[in-house]
Amino acid sequence: MTKATENHMDRVAQLPCIVCFYKMGIETRPVEVHHVSVPADDCAVAPLCVEHHRGATGVHGLQRRTR
Ligand SMILES: [Zn+2]
Ligand SMILES: [Zn+2]
Repeated sequence: MTKATENHMDRVAQLPCIVCFYKMGIETRPVEVHHVSVPADDCAVAPLCVEHHRGATGVHGLQRRTR
């Protein structure tokens, strides 16, 4: 991991959860840094709170569900 990427991820980790922020207008912290799968772009990361990251309504939680 390059120094620049490390700094970028550090900055992202300081941001509020993007889902909470855009959907409800609230700033939820702390967040986990979620890697968006964009090949060849290390910097495609998004701050997500634990619920929106791995919770029942989270990006990883939704993927596990077959509906
Ligand atoms: Zn959230
Ligand atoms: Zn993730």
